[in-house]
Amino acid sequence: MSDIVGIDLGTTNSLIGVMDSGFPILIADRDGSRLTPSVVYLPETGEPVVGAPADRMRALMPERTLYSVKRLIGRRPGESEKEDFPFAVKSLSGRMVLEVGDQLLKPEEVSSLVLKKLKVDAETSLGRAVDRAVISVPAYFNDLQRQATKRAGELAGFTTERIINEPTAAALAYGLDRLRDRSRVAVYDLGGGTFDISILELNEGIFRVLSTNGNTRLGGDDIDRELVRLLKERITGRYPELRPELDDRQFFARIREIAHTAKLRLSTEDAVQVEIPFLSGNRSFSYALTRMELEAIARPIIRRTRSHCLRSLDDAKLDPVKLDEVILVGGVTRMPIVRQFCAEVFQRLPNITQNPDEAVAVGATIQAGILSGVVQNVVLLDVTPLSLGIETFGGLMNVIIPRNTTIPCKAGEMFTNAVANQTSMQIVVLQGERELAKDNWELGRFNLEFEPVPKGIARVGVQFEIDGDGILHVLARDTRAGREKVVELSSAVDVSDEAVEKMIAESLDHAFEDMSERVWTEAVLKSNELIPAVRSALTLVGDQITSDDQRKIDLLVLEVEAALKGHDSQRLKKANAELDEGTQHLATLLIDRAMSEAARRKK
Ligand code: ADP
Ligand code: MG
Repeated sequence: MSDIVGIDLGTTNSLIGVMDSGFPILIADRDGSRLTPSVVYLPETGEPVVGAPADRMRALMPERTLYSVKRLIGRRPGESEKEDFPFAVKSLSGRMVLEVGDQLLKPEEVSSLVLKKLKVDAETSLGRAVDRAVISVPAYFNDLQRQATKRAGELAGFTTERIINEPTAAALAYGLDRLRDRSRVAVYDLGGGTFDISILELNEGIFRVLSTNGNTRLGGDDIDRELVRLLKERITGRYPELRPELDDRQFFARIREIAHTAKLRLSTEDAVQVEIPFLSGNRSFSYALTRMELEAIARPIIRRTRSHCLRSLDDAKLDPVKLDEVILVGGVTRMPIVRQFCAEVFQRLPNITQNPDEAVAVGATIQAGILSGVVQNVVLLDVTPLSLGIETFGGLMNVIIPRNTTIPCKAGEMFTNAVANQTSMQIVVLQGERELAKDNWELGRFNLEFEPVPKGIARVGVQFEIDGDGILHVLARDTRAGREKVVELSSAVDVSDEAVEKMIAESLDHAFEDMSERVWTEAVLKSNELIPAVRSALTLVGDQITSDDQRKIDLLVLEVEAALKGHDSQRLKKANAELDEGTQHLATLLIDRAMSEAARRKK
């Protein structure tokens, strides 16, 4: 089956990914970038330019450089707020169209150019054709907007297999589909030009959107604009004579790029040196911009998201403390100030385990993997790939959780002491399909101490529990004394596919000898139990049987001992059975003796 790719067709940036050996991988273009600005520059002659080179044309050729068309896709004239694009947007027979020179383009046609570029990047990287896609859209997109997005996919040469909600995709990327049912998640998505807040509920593996809110005019672009304004102020502070020049398009394009780069760096650095060499003539500009200055600009912009968050919580009839997770999506949430702000609004630390600007694409890719069936292999992570157990007497594997058990799961067994006066039991935790402990992998071992007791009296319960994250917790409890020990072992589930295949192949290859080894070991254990028991019975009640019977028993014991020297399980099993059979009489006498002794003691 052909690959299905996952696509985040963003207002500002778009990304494409594919499942590779069970993992969602985002594809970089030939410049090494995984983020493609959703910008299309249509030169007067020649092919459309898409992505970063087009983004650089925004300020230089504003009427030919189309951006943020996602705001227009699937919309009817008059439906959206007044757009103030520098390029021409017209209404034509009830549809919005973009006009560049003498060309008329539908928004989905512009989007399809972005999708086409992503398709070429993916095909170049994979070395094969891709023609099926999952594309994400905002949760609030109506049917027309969804259909238009689907059409954009088709125009780019994709079969759009599924349209997925962006917050749902993000939740998938964060692995929130593994939360328990009825979990509620807030997805705070602050992108380049739009802010979306969604509250989702997980129900039987499906996310339901409980509420969504936001602002289609709020995002990182606002921060860029304010930062450009600040830098211009600093420049004119130093070179007042340059004021008229600063309105020049070329200059604006340059400063916009510089401001943007500085903003990105200030998410991880406390200060950056903004350098504009040869600003004008031989005047150069250099300025140490601090994160504090940037945050002062950004704060009022970010604060505007608060009322939307509160409304969305209110619509979902939820108190923030009732949320199970808050996740951050969108490039702007890389800013520390946004993270702090979210922690404050939602009264909890947001989950930041994913790259916020990649989460939607990763989730769309996972959805693509689910549709094409390849994620089933990953879902192996939801079952135990190999059996888990402990080593028991004679070096045997005692399976507690068989392979392919769905997790989370719990199982246990009781064990006793093999030797009298044993004061501890070693628990060796094993993983694998072989009958003998030594052939399996040891995940760990620990000791459980207990009071010395006669053989077979100790009661040790061993319980294995694998939680939803695939972590194995082993609990061993001496049920008589109530003492217990819990050990946590990771990697019970996280085993590479090859290792699992090798283990299973080996267990099949060795099934026969493994089994006979197990039969032999069990027979030896039986003999080791029988012989001392018979000996002690002979000393206790031997005088009550005939010397003929005594001789018979001696011979049976000799045969077991002889068989133990060889390695013939059948012979040993037979010898054990005959000794067992031949000493039944002795056993009866032992019981009688014990009963009369008990009666005597009572008197
Ligand atoms: P969209 O979903 O709208 O396409 P993105 O999620 O890609 O947008 O977010 C783009 C915005 O995130 C831009 O304004 C960009 O400047 C901003 N951004 C990206 N990385 C960072 C960063 N490290 N620090 C601050 N802002 C960032
Ligand atoms: Mg986005």
